Amino acid sequence: TPDATFLTDYHAYRAEHEPDGTCWIFGDRTWTWLEAWEDIQRFAGGLKGEGIGRGDHVAFLDKNNPAILVANQAVSLLGAANAVVNWRLAGDELDYVINDSGARVLFVGHELMPSIELVREKLTTVEKIVVVGGEGDELEPWLAAAEPVDRQPDVDPHDPCLVMYSSGTTGRPKGVVLTQHNMVTHTKNAMGDIEYSDGDMMLIAMPMFHVGGSSYALFGPATGTAGYVISEVTPELLAGAMIAGVTHAFLVPAVVAALLQAGPDAMGLFSRLKAFSYGAAPMPLPVLRGALEGWPTTKFMQVYGMTEFGGVVTILDDDAHRDTSHPERLVSAGRTIAGVEMRVVDPATLEDVPTGTSGELWFRTEQSTPGYLGRPEDTAELLTDDGWVRTGDIGRVDDEGFVFVEDRVKDMIITGGENVYSPEVERVLAEHPAVMELAVIGVPDDQWGESVKAVVAFHPGQSVEPDELIAFARERLAGYKAPKSVDVVEALPRNPSGKILKRDLRKPYWSDRDRQV
Ligand code: ATP
Ligand code: MG
Repeated sequence: TPDATFLTDYHAYRAEHEPDGTCWIFGDRTWTWLEAWEDIQRFAGGLKGEGIGRGDHVAFLDKNNPAILVANQAVSLLGAANAVVNWRLAGDELDYVINDSGARVLFVGHELMPSIELVREKLTTVEKIVVVGGEGDELEPWLAAAEPVDRQPDVDPHDPCLVMYSSGTTGRPKGVVLTQHNMVTHTKNAMGDIEYSDGDMMLIAMPMFHVGGSSYALFGPATGTAGYVISEVTPELLAGAMIAGVTHAFLVPAVVAALLQAGPDAMGLFSRLKAFSYGAAPMPLPVLRGALEGWPTTKFMQVYGMTEFGGVVTILDDDAHRDTSHPERLVSAGRTIAGVEMRVVDPATLEDVPTGTSGELWFRTEQSTPGYLGRPEDTAELLTDDGWVRTGDIGRVDDEGFVFVEDRVKDMIITGGENVYSPEVERVLAEHPAVMELAVIGVPDDQWGESVKAVVAFHPGQSVEPDELIAFARERLAGYKAPKSVDVVEALPRNPSGKILKRDLRKPYWSDRDRQV
């Protein structure tokens, strides 16, 4: 692997040393490393022609498409930054994010143009829109007319290159600024844990509007591994990727749960994977056990991270997944990767808590964002003066450094003075055979302050009485942790990364109270 300082160093190296190797496959199109590199340089030239330079922002709104990966790298040649916008956003969320990004040029997948037409008049910073794909494609002629450029002389490795929006699980999505140095450092730090050999092919299925998609894709040029891009996660596109020979996949837990439900054929197709990574949210234990059983020769890896780190900071490797002397570590997020320091801090005293005790997880690493775009107060809350990042996640660490992510500070339930970590209760209830998916939230309680409520969706054709579920929990958990009430729903509200939107579940209960949902 070549050394890198600037974001495009890996890609430029591949273009020079293995120009004809496969870079990306997307539908019936294939890019070699050299073709992709030429696209990157032409894209940069096109942007330069539009007057984009150091410090400027552009935005890309499309389903997963190699053109987004081209744009991500092209902006860095100019010292500019690309905001990859969530294509599932609708209405005022969409113009909010585009305006917030400060983009001057906006690239829009043709399927998404109708959404843009609806908000076009509200876009305050966009000077030009380029339609991508479809009959009225403007990207190809725009690229063809562009004069390719190399990195501009004034570009610094600490220039921002991406604005990635957080998932919006706990509030409005925040624009996280990531520099070239952040992204290169993340690639280097995480790479030690990822094994690729010749002929491997990675599936790029995680949405590129999250670091899970855009930063994972950088392992391709860094390691010389071809990327098979699918526009979105659908059963058909996933199956097509497997048939095409994908060897490495990175998906969210909800997708694995869906594969298990789809049955042995779907599971069987994926058993060919050499390596399978998952993360972004807790994996229910029955789902993980099902996957480990169904894919006996696949190497498993769990990652924990957040947008603010440009990717991951801890990894649970395959050995830990198969270590029968520590079965409890199956629900751990693993250990810190290279170049990452960790603390577990009591949020009240800001002192480290003893090993094994719960506190807020703090990390210090050069992967960390310099801050949120245009949100100095949120940035001040995120970063300490000496370079630590407060994650807003509660966790504990065992004596060998394995991290257990227990809850988000905002989701923790305090009932009668006791802390209840919702995922612990969720893990127990998920073991009930009738339960398809569930979330545990705190609702107002006059006696206890908050009480524990389970919101449950049952498997089709199955259901049990709330009392039975509560009794099931009481047999397995301390009394105060077991739910006091159960709501039954058809499905849980999720954001596009598959995360359950607990604030939406809490809202009806807290709307007239003073808890911040
Ligand atoms: P927002 O910050 O806008 O509320 P978000 O925190 O969900 O949204 P992301 O940066 O996409 O936005 O997600 C990071 C969060 O996801 C982490 O802080 C953590 O709560 C959760 N997470 C990530 N990986 C894991 C994991 N392996 N296990 C449990 N939780 C995880
Ligand atoms: Mg967050």
